[in-house]
Amino acid sequence: MNSYIKRKITKKINVGNLSIGGDSPIIIQSMTNIPIEDVNRNIAQIENLKKNGAQIVRLAIRNEKGIEPLSRIIKASPIPLVADIHFDHKLAIAAIDAGISKIRINPGNIGDENKVKEVVRAASANNIPIRIGVNGGSINRKKYSHVTPESLVDSAMENIQILEDNNFSNIVISIKCSDIFHTVEANRMISGLRDYPIHIGLTEAGYGLSCIVQSSIVIGHLLMLGIGDTIRVSMTGDPVNEAVTGTKILESLNLKFSPVRMISCPTCGRTAEDIDLLAIAQETESRLIEKFGEILNQRNEKITVAVMGCEVNGPGEAAEADFGLAGGQNGKILLFAKGERIKTVPVKDAVKELISVVGDKLTI
Ligand code: SF4
Repeated sequence: MNSYIKRKITKKINVGNLSIGGDSPIIIQSMTNIPIEDVNRNIAQIENLKKNGAQIVRLAIRNEKGIEPLSRIIKASPIPLVADIHFDHKLAIAAIDAGISKIRINPGNIGDENKVKEVVRAASANNIPIRIGVNGGSINRKKYSHVTPESLVDSAMENIQILEDNNFSNIVISIKCSDIFHTVEANRMISGLRDYPIHIGLTEAGYGLSCIVQSSIVIGHLLMLGIGDTIRVSMTGDPVNEAVTGTKILESLNLKFSPVRMISCPTCGRTAEDIDLLAIAQETESRLIEKFGEILNQRNEKITVAVMGCEVNGPGEAAEADFGLAGGQNGKILLFAKGERIKTVPVKDAVKELISVVGDKLTI
């Protein structure tokens, strides 16, 4: 989809009805933040995450009481689920028996070798992948006192080695910490060492705008290097924001199809004061997606729409747009297509008129 990005071809791993790695599209993940016992709220959150772009969702399993609710959530979930388990090999096996699509556990934390073998046996028998997830808190503290790219990679390799020694290669790797540079470097290093698919993101990335910027830098940088098969934006708060941000990152890099691409200017002193450009741009985007999103998706067709603050520079600056609006004076707005003026309409009718022009051109 993007000729500037040369993706590293990794091993393809199946997760439920999806696959990660190889030539599969990059998958967006998130995690519920509701105790597993609250089955209905977990299911509602998973459905909402799916609606907002998440394709795989992870749930934390704290103890054996979580297995029964997990099995009910699995049955109701519209997308594959991952069980996040720390230390307890019995929980990992129980989650596999309950029908989970993937588990996240670090074999180095399980304890004795026989317990690792039991998990590997259950995962192999059910074709369930294991994600090794190393972060700043899970480096080998006996060997390393500091979180560095080297200590992260070495700790991940120790865990990979345990699985490989058990002839298990249905592996996804993730290495994350809260430092942008360490995370990028560690992922570059591990990508050179093994061909397993890599789950990328920044962990403990904070909240809001700061999290979005930092996560986009890390995920975007790695994807542009061709590294990363699945992404998760870790964000404090409603996980829907993780899914939305992940989707935007992939769309920005042309790694996910988006039927409507919006362009809008920052506005300046040339924008008339009665033009609320932000509101017009937001309404334009949501109504275009609502009206034409599905058909454009079916046709694999994309439109670029510009919403500009003035007609002096707007149509020229946005000449590449298929359709556009540019603010005029005295409550008027100009409608244009491919830089050519079509007509001037009252501001209150602008979005409606644009929708109608788009519909005519698309012959819908
Ligand atoms: S398009 Fe017009 S209003 Fe927008 S930034 Fe350019 S000059 Fe200013």
